[in-house]
Amino acid sequence: MAVKVAEEWLNICGGCEVSILDIGEPLLDILPAIEFVHIPVLMDHKYHGQTGEGDAHKIEIPEADVGIVSGGVRNEKEKLVALEMRKKCKTLISLGSCACYGGIPAMANMWSLTDMCDKVYRDSKSTEKADTPKENLPPLLDKVYALDEVVKVDLAIPGCAPHPDWIKEALVCLLNGKPFVMSEKSVCDECPVKREKKAAGGEIKRPLEGMQFKQDAPWEETRCFMEQGYLCLGPVTKAGCVGPATGDGEVKVPRCIKGYMTCRGCFGPVKKDSNPLVDMMGAVSSIGLDPKQVMDRRATLNRYIGGHGLLRPLPAKQVPVKK
Ligand code: SF4
Ligand code: SF4
Ligand code: SF4
Repeated sequence: MAVKVAEEWLNICGGCEVSILDIGEPLLDILPAIEFVHIPVLMDHKYHGQTGEGDAHKIEIPEADVGIVSGGVRNEKEKLVALEMRKKCKTLISLGSCACYGGIPAMANMWSLTDMCDKVYRDSKSTEKADTPKENLPPLLDKVYALDEVVKVDLAIPGCAPHPDWIKEALVCLLNGKPFVMSEKSVCDECPVKREKKAAGGEIKRPLEGMQFKQDAPWEETRCFMEQGYLCLGPVTKAGCVGPATGDGEVKVPRCIKGYMTCRGCFGPVKKDSNPLVDMMGAVSSIGLDPKQVMDRRATLNRYIGGHGLLRPLPAKQVPVKK
């Protein structure tokens, strides 16, 4: 009997769903063993019955063996959908960094909901002042939550967007009753560039300022981007953005590094409870760069992971009273 799979998207951009479609031909190999019973990106499935005349307060999602949820939880509707997916799916997978850690939208957690709405609808110089939209919209929650802050999650596949081969790997493991394991190494551990353990000196550079590399030269001839003076979050980011190990001995270069760009941390922390901001400040100092030069440190070093309380509003500054 085919394994039933349900998929849902919450606070998303749609890239995680593209990753599912990007599995490509291997998806054809596993399709005979699975049956998608619910996947809004492909099937028009109404929450309140096919005619929309069902109970308006009750969401209907079919029962499934495996549930895949992308996106964090930003509003009351997404919270209901997350709870219903948990109720209907025996195993629940969080897909992508928004679901695993809150993702880019959780950068909004640096402000209270009121301050965030003021900033977006009233204080922005490029926007005409307006009321916060409310009509026919689900109310926003106080902040953006990672999926596992709202419901129990059994298996997490990070990445923005996640590598399609990890999705296939997770489904194959579940079909075969095998554990799904991801590395606890860092992006640096799998990066083949040349390292000298010291920075070239000077200031932290902007990402597009003349990085030194020879296109298509062997990677050992390219110097580590951070040692060249660029901020690269490889030391504090979980390895694996290239997909699962294939065992064919091929050197797989982390995706951004392969494009001669620094790692921006999309795969999330190396270990669940690590604090990349603190660890990254140490990594920057250890090669002789000044961590104080990292612009907008809290946002930059927590860019994809602002759920789990890592980004929150700062207490208002106390203005000293003059005597
Ligand atoms: S993790 Fe990235 S690709 Fe997936 S929904 Fe979030 S922003 Fe989009
Ligand atoms: S800091 Fe960046 S460029 Fe340097 S080894 Fe780590 S991932 Fe590679
Ligand atoms: S190099 Fe870093 S930011 Fe780029 S895909 Fe890999 S983990 Fe994500």
